[in-house]
Order: sequence, then C-alpha cells, then structure tokens
Amino acid sequence: MQEITHVYIDGQFIEPHGTELFDLHNPTTGEVFGHVRLGDVHDTRAAIAAAKRAFPEWSRTTKAERISLLHRLHDAMEAKKDALLDAIILEYGAPISRSTWMAAYASSSFLDAARTLEGFDLTQRIGTAELIMEPVGVSGLITPWNSNAGFICNKLAYALAAGCTAVIKPSEMSAAQTQVVLEALHEAGAPAGLFNIVNGRGDVVGAEISANPDISKISFTGSTAVGKSILCAAADTLKRVTLELGGKSPTVILDDADFAKAIPLALETGFANSGQACIAGSRILVPASRLDEALAETQIALEKIKAGNPRDAGTTIGPMVSQTQYERVQHYIRLGIEEGATIVAGGEGHPDGLGGYFVRPTIFANVTNDMTIAREEIFGPVLCILTYKNEAEAISIANDTRYGLQAYVISSDLDRATAVAGQIQAGRIVINGAPHDPTVPFGGFKQSGIGREYGVFGLQAYLEPKAVLGAASA
Ligand code: NAD
Repeated sequence: MQEITHVYIDGQFIEPHGTELFDLHNPTTGEVFGHVRLGDVHDTRAAIAAAKRAFPEWSRTTKAERISLLHRLHDAMEAKKDALLDAIILEYGAPISRSTWMAAYASSSFLDAARTLEGFDLTQRIGTAELIMEPVGVSGLITPWNSNAGFICNKLAYALAAGCTAVIKPSEMSAAQTQVVLEALHEAGAPAGLFNIVNGRGDVVGAEISANPDISKISFTGSTAVGKSILCAAADTLKRVTLELGGKSPTVILDDADFAKAIPLALETGFANSGQACIAGSRILVPASRLDEALAETQIALEKIKAGNPRDAGTTIGPMVSQTQYERVQHYIRLGIEEGATIVAGGEGHPDGLGGYFVRPTIFANVTNDMTIAREEIFGPVLCILTYKNEAEAISIANDTRYGLQAYVISSDLDRATAVAGQIQAGRIVINGAPHDPTVPFGGFKQSGIGREYGVFGLQAYLEPKAVLGAASA
C-alpha cells in the first residue's frame, strides 16, 4: 500500500491538519493501492501564507535567475520520468504511449516556459510610457485528474517564469503522480515557499484558494461547472482567473477527404486519452452522401482500437479513472440508445475479458446534434457520427454547442480546410492532424473557458502590465 501522509508547505513535507484519508484506486483492476491524507482549510491557509512570504523576493529575481531555476526543475523531472510513468499508469491507466507523452509533457513544460521567458521583454516601451510586466502575485493552481502531473508542471512553470509564487491543489484522485512531481521539484532545491502543494477536496482546499484574499490569480483546469463556481468565488477579491474547461469538439470531415485516412484520424482524436480528454473529437461530422463509406471505414479503423492492459504496446484505450466515471459513461451509452441513436460499435458493460473501470469503445451513428450525447461532455470513449448536407451546415453543426475549445478539420484541400477553420468558433483548430505545438496558445471560446495557456499568452496570464508615463527611460 502506498501511504501519502503529508502536505508540502514552505519547502517542507509536513503532517496535515486535515485527517481524512482518501482511497487511491488502480482503475485497471478497481483495487485500492494506497491512501492520501487530505489537507483542510488550515493547511491551505498555511500554504498561502508561505507563498505570500516567498513572493517579494522571487518577484524581484532576474530573468536569468528564473530561467536557471526552470532548467533545474526540468532536469529534476527528467530524472523522475520513469517513476512518473509508473504512477500515471498505476493510478490513471493511460496506455503506455499516452502515459509516456504525459510524463514528457510534465518535464518539458519547464523548458517551454524558460524559452518563452527568454524571448519575452519584461520591460517594454509603449507609446510614451515604459511598460513593466510585473508578476501578478500568489497564484492558486487547481488541476484535474486527466493529466494531473502535466498540468501541475505547466501551470507552475509559467507562474514561476512570471515571478509568481504558487499554491497547488492537485486532483485528490492523482496523489501518486503528485507525489512524484513533488519529490522531483523538492530535490531541485527551489527557495522555500515558492510552491506549496495541498492535496485535498475541491470544495475545501479548492474553495479556500478561490476565495482567499491573499491569492491574486487562479489558474484552473477542470469542468465547466466547477470553473463557474470558482469564477463566482474569485469575484469578491477580483482575482485574475484563467479557466480551461470542458469541450465537445467537432471533427469536420469535408467531402473531398480521403476517408481511408480521415476516419482513422477522427477515431484516434475522439478516443485520445481513452476519451477522457477535454479536446477529444467526440462529434464526427461526415457528409450525408458518404455516410456508408464512413461507416465501412469506421469498422476497418476499429480493428486498431484496443482496450486492454495499459502497459501493452498495442493498447489504445485504458480504463476510466474511477467507478464514478465508469458509471457516468454507462449512463450516457444507455441515454444514446434511448434517444434513438444506433450503436455501430461497443455498447454497455465492460469489454470482453476486462474488469476494473474499462468501458467498451463505443460509436453511435444516426445522431442528431440536439441529442444529449451530442451536447454533453461524456469524458469517455463514446463518439457520435453526425451527417451534414453541405459545408455551411457542417459549420453550423460544429458551432452549435456551448463549448469552443478545440475543433478538427480534415480535407484534401488545405485552402478549403483553412477557410472552414476560419468559421469555426474554437480556441484551437487542428487541420489534418497537425502536431501539437507548446508555443501556440491554448484555451476556449464560449463556455470552454477564459484566457489562454502556453507560450507568450500563457506567460502574460501571470503578469500585470504597469505603464509608467514620464519614466527616465521612456
Ligand atoms: P473537476 O472540475 O471536477 O475538478 C477539477 C479540480 O477542481 C479538482 O482538483 C477538484 O478537486 C477541484 N474542485 C472541485 N470542486 C471545487 C470547488 N468548488 N472549488 C475549487 N476547486 C474545486 O474536473 P475533473 O473531473 O477533475 O476533470 C475533468 C474535467 O476537466 C472535464 O470537464 C474536462 O473537460 C476538463 N479539462 C479541461 C481541460 C482544458 O484544458 N480545457 C483539460 C483537461 C480537463
């Protein structure tokens, strides 16, 4: 059994004031593999006080000093890459290809932030003024379970680059990953109080961070419902708030696409992270005139989609993170059937021979965009195929959602795909499977969020511009 019994405050692992023990589950088997002792409001306030004490000195550091620390944090994370990989597989069950990417994303975030800071002028001229980009203050960083280590590192890296200090509230379901990250960052020898980590409940630790007057900035990744409650809690002290929330991303396959490539790409995007991804392309839009071909290619592409042991190289779908998430996905599968959609793959229950929290990779056809399965974020491997009559209708269906995080366009004609991308309301649009770029801003339109992360936009989210008119240098 793994027992995690501390919070991390002021550079020290200490026993929390909170006493609640939270079970940690291995979703591949459903077994409990450990416990984490949760912090409470006292622990959260102590962490915020430590970050507040550390802020004045860190906020005055030079770019070179911050970049040097970011490199040390990166190296420390690299040294723990294998341990992080093991923790991600144990407590999250992401297939090994995905877990490896997640572990790499965690460490590379520090280099990304260092490079961004290197190329950014913290003092600029604008009009007749000198513009000084000052760190906004103590930042509260709240992360979800679906890439917990990566989000902790990414948010922390940009906060530190800006000169902020931080209190981190990771997902309580991801304490094993948090533990590896914490050990790595501690070993890197950062000044005490720069970052503090309190495992705990969202409505206790997260709520305190969201309302505490000594927190100046919140960066939250998680559900739209919780994002809204954080925005309300933060309003009283007018905190700066970045929200990375849910999605219901469309994959628009245009009628000129090569379906033998387009459909496997759409499935890969939709089943990314076993469907537990805010950017999963969960609505696949195909031209009605080519539906039969799309369904035939779907059956071929499904041969490569395999739920199974996350450590097997051929596995593409892991389990859901928890029993709750398993049941939530089952509920949506039943709802899809009740709403009249047709199952073309998968369905209720576990895949053959698998227990734990595995669900069957499921695809619905005959879906209309007003069905609940096309509107709500399912956060599991459940995809909807919808048809459209012409390009205008495809764009209209793509945009007919409260979300606007990411969208995908697949076409043989780049100019056409680019024109369609221009009409889709989403913070990021990926044409023909273009690779991820960590310098490109990421964030949502509409109810997918507020603000952007990554690169210059990510750095500016932790900075407050101060214009000095009549300054000596201006
Ligand atoms: P969640 O909103 O339930 O929880 C996220 C975090 O918020 C957890 O640490 C939780 O403990 C905390 N929290 C819960 N209640 C809180 C409160 N009242 N005040 C403050 N904090 C609170 O989300 P989840 O189930 O952990 O993650 C899945 C969700 O995250 C999905 O909706 C997904 O789309 C979203 N997500 C978004 C992005 C993005 O970049 N846009 C990325 C990954 C996940």
